[in-house]
Amino acid sequence: MITVAVDLGGTTIKLGVVRDGKVAREASLAAESRDGLLRQLREIADEIGRLLSSLGLEHRNCNALGLTFPGLVDVDTNRVRATYGKWDDAPGIDLAAWAKEQFGLPLVMENDTRLALLGEWRAGAGIGCDNLVLVTLGTGLGTAAIIEGKLLKGVHGQAGVLGGHFSTNRDGARCTCGNIGCAEAEASTSVLARIAAKHPEFATSALRQRDKIDYSAVFDLARQGDPCALALKTESIAVWAQMIVNLIHAYDPEKIILGGGVMAGAADFFDALKAAIFAHAHMPWGRVDVVAGSLGSSAALLGLDAFARQRFLV
Ligand SMILES: [Zn+2]
Repeated sequence: MITVAVDLGGTTIKLGVVRDGKVAREASLAAESRDGLLRQLREIADEIGRLLSSLGLEHRNCNALGLTFPGLVDVDTNRVRATYGKWDDAPGIDLAAWAKEQFGLPLVMENDTRLALLGEWRAGAGIGCDNLVLVTLGTGLGTAAIIEGKLLKGVHGQAGVLGGHFSTNRDGARCTCGNIGCAEAEASTSVLARIAAKHPEFATSALRQRDKIDYSAVFDLARQGDPCALALKTESIAVWAQMIVNLIHAYDPEKIILGGGVMAGAADFFDALKAAIFAHAHMPWGRVDVVAGSLGSSAALLGLDAFARQRFLV
């Protein structure tokens, strides 16, 4: 089984060739997710071609093309059902037709975090555990859940994956989903610059001099005692903890796995986040295990391969 796997992130597109359940080779492209998917399909196709030829493979050697999407996906029709400020033109694109025309391959497509959880469950930090929640902290906030060995999906594909749209602030900002004060609208890379600019100490903060305001910059300056960066870090940890407490209350997992680009700075916030979760979650039975994912960016690629195997019963 060879799956060509494409993980459409908000900031980075990761591509991989998964052969016999292992990532044989991977590459990445900068994502222009606010400009739409249609204009980046050519670049994605070219990169897939380069990846395959670097392994001495051709399209016809592969079994499926898999796409993850940071939104709601109708897996039966391979159409994107809802987007959240990233790749907003995707619902109008027939990606199955694209995969067929470009590569002669059948398409499988699912929500990105649901597939990352499938990957961690099969091959990573979730092995042997049948009650899991995955949270990705990144451009947006992704979540997915497995209860009693079943990857939650729901009637419309929404179950488990809308944790980033749990309300955390009823006086908060309008979210891309239409709700007010979603966790993703309060503490994710996509809104960090906007939130920073509103902070009373932003004008005198070294953050203002940075080319890019992301969590790497915030953690770096917080370490140096910058008051604005410290406040943003503290507030973000509180929002993430609030969201994760809600996930614990909703899904009763044995283990929470944390992934996503922000986890690169885990040394700066992971202990504080765990302390905030343990201080507020109702767990009369004990304490949920909170761990970092072990597959990094490969989780979604391996999840796509597992999903393609299920679809095609390989
Ligand atoms: Zn929302």
